[in-house]
Amino acid sequence: MSRSQEELVELGHQFLYANYRQPAVVMQRGAGVEVWDVAGKRYLDFLAGVAVNALGHCHPAIAKTLTEQSTRLVHVSNYFFNEQNILLAQKLCGLTRMDRVLFCNSGTEAVEAVLKLARRHFFGLGQTERHGVIAFERSFHGRTMGALAATGQAGYREGFGPLGPVTHVPFGDLDAVKRVLNDKVAGILIEPVQGEGGVLPAPPGFLAALRELCDASGTLLLADEIQTGVGRTGKFLGVDHFGVRPDAIAMAKGLGGGFPIGAMLCTSKLAGALPAGSHGTTFGGNPLASAVGLTVLETLEREDLSASVEKMGAYLDTQLQALCRKHPSKVVGTRGLGLLRALELRASLDARAVLGAIREAGVLLSIAGGSSLRFSPPLIVSQAHIDEAIGLIDGVLGAVQS
Ligand SMILES: *Cc1c(COP(=O)(O)O)cnc(C)c1O
Repeated sequence: MSRSQEELVELGHQFLYANYRQPAVVMQRGAGVEVWDVAGKRYLDFLAGVAVNALGHCHPAIAKTLTEQSTRLVHVSNYFFNEQNILLAQKLCGLTRMDRVLFCNSGTEAVEAVLKLARRHFFGLGQTERHGVIAFERSFHGRTMGALAATGQAGYREGFGPLGPVTHVPFGDLDAVKRVLNDKVAGILIEPVQGEGGVLPAPPGFLAALRELCDASGTLLLADEIQTGVGRTGKFLGVDHFGVRPDAIAMAKGLGGGFPIGAMLCTSKLAGALPAGSHGTTFGGNPLASAVGLTVLETLEREDLSASVEKMGAYLDTQLQALCRKHPSKVVGTRGLGLLRALELRASLDARAVLGAIREAGVLLSIAGGSSLRFSPPLIVSQAHIDEAIGLIDGVLGAVQS
C-alpha cells in the first residue's frame, strides 16, 4: 500500500527519534545526480548524502556488485578472511601509500580506531603516560564518545561530558600547537579541509609543518579523511594536496558510495600497535561492503573521476564566485577544494531559511559552519548539472530578503 508524502511525514514524526530536523520531504528514488521525493518532485542532489554518494545514486556498477555479491556471500565475520576484503585493503593501500587497513562501518568508528591505535602504540612502547590528543577548533570527528571528545565544536559536545582529554587549538595556528605539544601527546588529529566546520582548507604549509613537528617529537599525525577522501577534493586524499603522509588515516563516507563502510589505515610503523584481540568489529570488512568499496575505487579510476573532479570543481568555483559578485549583499565569499565547496552567507541571512528555499527550488545542499551553504555533489556531476543548480540558487538569492 503506497502512502502519501504527508502521511509518511506524520508517521516519521510519530515513530522516529527526533534527533534530526528533516523537512517534510520523503525521498524515494535516485539516479546519478538526481533524486525524487514521494510526491514526484525532482531535486539536483548537490549534498550527495553528505559527500557519500561519490558515484551518484544507483550507479549501475554498484547495483551490479550489490546484486552479485549478495547472492554469493554477505557476511562471515572476522573469524575468517574474505576475498573482497583482502583485495579492497590492497587497493586502498596502493591509493593512499599506507601499509595496513582495519575496516569498520562508519566514520566515527574509523576515528575511534585511529585514536585507540595511537594510544596503544605508545602503551606498547612503555610510554603509558603518552595518551593525549591535540585536535582543532571547529573540527568534526564523529559522535561516539572518543570521536566526540576530539570534535572541536560546542554544539556537538553540549550535554555529553565529561569527555576524554583532548586539547583543542585554533585551526592553522602552528604556535598554538607548539605551546600544547609535549611528551604526553600521542597524536595530532586533523581534517585537511574542515568539512562540518565550514569547508575550511588547512592554510598552505600547515600540514607540512605539523608533519615536521610530529617527526621531531615522535607524535603521530592522524588525518581524518572521512569527508575529504576518495577523490572528493580532486586527489584521492585531502593530504595529497599538501604533500604530507600521515601515520594513520580515518576514511568512510565516499568509500562505499552509499553503502556503509569505514576504514582505519596506517603505516608499517603502527602495524603491530593493536595486537590480535585488542580491537575489532563484527560487521567491519564484510564481503558485501568490501565488494562495493572495491567497485567504487575501480570505477573512480576507470572513469578517471579525479581529473573530472578537478575540472568540475574549478568550474563550480568560478560559478560560485560569479554568485558572490552578483549578490554581494547576500553572500560573503566562497572557498573549498575540488567538489567540496562552501558559499558563505551574510550573517543577516537565516541560513536555514535560504537552504529551505533552495531545496524548494530543486537543489539539495547542506549547511556547514553555521552560515555557509556546502556543496558536495556526486563526483560524476557535469557542467550542465552545475549550470542548472547555480541558475536555481541564483534565483533564490535574488529573491530572499537580506
Ligand atoms: C562525517 C564525518 C565523520 C563521522 O562519520 P560518521 O560516518 O557520521 O560517523 C567524522 N569526521 C569527518 C571529517 C566527517 O565528515
